[in-house]
Amino acid sequence: MDEFKHKGKREQLIKLLRSKGIEDENVLEAMNRVPRHLFMDSAFEEFAYKDQAFPIASGQTISHPFTVAKQSSLLHVKRGDKILEIGTGSGYQAAVLVEMGAEVYTIERQKDLFDFSQRIFKKIKIRPKYATYGDGYKGFPSFAPFDSIIVTAGSPMIPKTLLKQLKVGGIMVIPIGKDNQMMTTFLRVGERDFEKMEFGDCQFVPMLERTEK
Ligand code: SAH
Repeated sequence: MDEFKHKGKREQLIKLLRSKGIEDENVLEAMNRVPRHLFMDSAFEEFAYKDQAFPIASGQTISHPFTVAKQSSLLHVKRGDKILEIGTGSGYQAAVLVEMGAEVYTIERQKDLFDFSQRIFKKIKIRPKYATYGDGYKGFPSFAPFDSIIVTAGSPMIPKTLLKQLKVGGIMVIPIGKDNQMMTTFLRVGERDFEKMEFGDCQFVPMLERTEK
């Protein structure tokens, strides 16, 4: 299932991520442990450890390893952090955060992808605290506030409902924009105050409203 050849390829990928500027050892170690090839159809296994995004089901994609590493680094994850992820997709990003020691709450709006990620979590025995099928624009008010929030789909606007579910001192990382997005973070510095920072262009599938069967 996770063989020697996969581990070797993973180490190469980690080296590549380091050379592209990823410095957070906690992120790199977690990505070195999570078997990304098991989140893809076995026919495409050879692509698992290249730094590229890849189609999963229903027109969605598993993000570039670099993007996963970058978004994870921007959260400055500490062990035990309570993190909300919008867009479970394959479940890979959630698994990386779990391996970093976070308590992960993740939401997916497409039922088939929700089911797909559930099967993988079971298989690899890396489990988020809570994974659910629903509309991520609503967040997860019953478990709020969160230490951080990660949105893994491109949002045309800043979702205020999600900002409200952040702890003071917490960070939200979100790609903002329609066709192309700007990787953006919001640090909640007070009850009503947020500091915004931008980290370059990126490309994600769109964040859509409501759920889909
Ligand atoms: N984190 C994923 C990347 C998935 S791509 C991974 O590691 O594989 C983005 C995902 O966001 C898609 O699965 C898409 O269905 C989902 N998505 C889009 N809009 C959403 C919303 N409003 N709520 C929850 N999920 C959403």
